[in-house]
Amino acid sequence: MSKISGSCLCGSIQYASKEEPLMTAVCHCENCQHQTGTAFSIIVGVPEDSLIFEKSETLKEYIDHGESGGAVRRNFCEKCGSPIFSLVESAPGISFIKAGTLDDKSWLQPSTNFWCDTAQPWVKLDDELANHGRNPS
Ligand SMILES: [Zn+2]
Ligand SMILES: [Zn+2]
Repeated sequence: MSKISGSCLCGSIQYASKEEPLMTAVCHCENCQHQTGTAFSIIVGVPEDSLIFEKSETLKEYIDHGESGGAVRRNFCEKCGSPIFSLVESAPGISFIKAGTLDDKSWLQPSTNFWCDTAQPWVKLDDELANHGRNPS
């Protein structure tokens, strides 16, 4: 099984990538908090053209503009609402998968925190990681 394979909650969207992930990060921006309904997003970056959809009829896009001003194309399942991946204007060529949709999450090890300035106050940021205040997410 590919390291990168996953689905939305209802199973209408299924994806996979044969490429190794480029990075794993945690994003604490307020827009991710709104979209996910929780404290942060865990995101796994893969090359955009490596992400293959076995099922995607219910995939919809919401174009968001973060504080950095650049477009964030947030793709989600219109049937069950699961966020699936984002394309970020300031990081072209990378699909940022929402890691909670992966089939296997056991290998996840975030290396970076983005938007630490808006992290929830009870979230403990690991000093060992690369922690960015206002980096584009
Ligand atoms: Zn779904
Ligand atoms: Zn974010």
